[in-house]
Amino acid sequence: MSTFQAPKGTYDLIPPRSAVFLAVRDAISAQARSAGYGYVETPGFEDVNLFARGVGESTDIVTKEMYTLTTKGGDQLALRPEGTASVLRAALQANLHKQGNLPVKLWYSGSYYRYERAQAGRYRHFSQVGAEAIGAEDPALDAELIILADQAYRSLGLRQYRILLNSLGDKECRPVYREALQTFLRGLDLDEETLRRAEINPLRVLDDKRPDVRKQLVDAPLLRDYLCDACKAYHEEVRALITAAGVVFEDDLKLVRGLDYYTRTTFEFVHDGLGAQSAVGGGGRYDGLSEMIGGPALPSVGWALGVDRTVLALEAEGVELDLPAATSVFAVAIGEEARRLLFGKVTELRRAGIATDFSFGGKGLKGSMKDANRSGARIALVAGERDLAEGVIQVKDMESGEQRPVAPDALLDAVRAILG
Ligand code: AMP
Repeated sequence: MSTFQAPKGTYDLIPPRSAVFLAVRDAISAQARSAGYGYVETPGFEDVNLFARGVGESTDIVTKEMYTLTTKGGDQLALRPEGTASVLRAALQANLHKQGNLPVKLWYSGSYYRYERAQAGRYRHFSQVGAEAIGAEDPALDAELIILADQAYRSLGLRQYRILLNSLGDKECRPVYREALQTFLRGLDLDEETLRRAEINPLRVLDDKRPDVRKQLVDAPLLRDYLCDACKAYHEEVRALITAAGVVFEDDLKLVRGLDYYTRTTFEFVHDGLGAQSAVGGGGRYDGLSEMIGGPALPSVGWALGVDRTVLALEAEGVELDLPAATSVFAVAIGEEARRLLFGKVTELRRAGIATDFSFGGKGLKGSMKDANRSGARIALVAGERDLAEGVIQVKDMESGEQRPVAPDALLDAVRAILG
């Protein structure tokens, strides 16, 4: 062991488990790519005010969980705690919204940082794949994103998740509701901090998980009863479209999310095998965010799915992904001359697009064959002095156990024939 350890709340991805992470990222991004979302990559840190203004000054993410730093040049930066604000900032900076084609559809994948109390499923460094559709108010877009996320989980083989859906209203109806909720909350027996939160951001109180608070919230006014006609119609259309797609969801009238920028459609994917940190992904519409960060009005919608928790969900359900072996061919050479010949063949196979590994480190036949087995390769190539003398390389199909000598010039064809 080294003197150093991964920092608290973080962990390393190492083989073989790391292959599952890659597969999860791939499966999620495949859905976004299949629907015309283009890849965007933004810096790991941004001006701290982008998040303060975008995510919300009173959210836990901004007040407690951001990793902030002042550079030697005096810039105030923050490691990104989420992706949406950065992606929208990037789209605005590049003027993507002025190029005629709205919505601008983008997907991303990367590391995010929150200084949280670390526990199972909650880390200080975690990984998300996200998708954002910027610049269109269309319930079909909200539906598209929910269907794509559902399809991503489904394609991975997950079954024990639920989709929670709600509408948070818009700038017309939410303020009216906010006041009604505030009046209600002021009459409750709440601790000081919660009362303060009720004044700044009353909707977040609905998200309180403590039983004594939850009990008092049973009769809280519901946003649904305050939605304006436009929001109601919009929400009904989203519900109808995802229902028609066969996606099962639950209306969760108390669903609010930990970020302030959401309007109208909000949703969360929760997995029942994960305990307290059950949200595997979430998202919603954020019609006001662009203006909050100094841009024009650009109604938008998006989601971010957590890669770490999706992997935990797969493990909880006992789903084994059908991962291809890292290499198709493993070459075992005994003796200097054979090493030179086979190493050359390894390069040739790789150049032909066949994933190939080699018995490095000068192990004997037995040790090298063990490595070949462990690699999961379909084919082992074996060459020793006797093979060289006969001008052949032994090609062993590890699945059938069949082995036959092949002339070096015919090796590529022989390998291709087995791999099909
Ligand atoms: P949020 O932006 O908080 O809605 O997060 C979206 C998704 O990212 C969540 O549903 C989780 O799967 C994942 N996520 C958020 N925070 C963490 C964390 N601290 N550790 C692991 N995953 C997280």
